[in-house]
Amino acid sequence: MAEKKIKTEVKIESKKVCSDPKCPTHGSLRTRGRIFRGAVVRKFPKRIAIEFERTLYIKKYERYAKTKTRLHARLPDCMADSINVGDYIEIMECRPLSKIIKFVVTKKIR
Ligand SMILES: [Zn+2]
Repeated sequence: MAEKKIKTEVKIESKKVCSDPKCPTHGSLRTRGRIFRGAVVRKFPKRIAIEFERTLYIKKYERYAKTKTRLHARLPDCMADSINVGDYIEIMECRPLSKIIKFVVTKKIR
């Protein structure tokens, strides 16, 4: 019985904490388009930068080169504490929120 009570309390708290209108699960921000996964390289207030590797074909040499892509994504209030530098996360495209932010954090993978 005691355990159940604690769980419900936590749920109510998390709902209260997230009053972020630009949150894909609690706010009104809609996500659509591309999904990327990568490691968090920098953390800012309400924003994170993720980085992931991709291969790029170079025609002149008929070979592939590794390149890194860095993307900035909005970090909703409800995930601000759980996501830190080094985490592997998933981001999804949304409407442009600023000049560099066109993605929002959807979940933490590990
Ligand atoms: Zn939220």
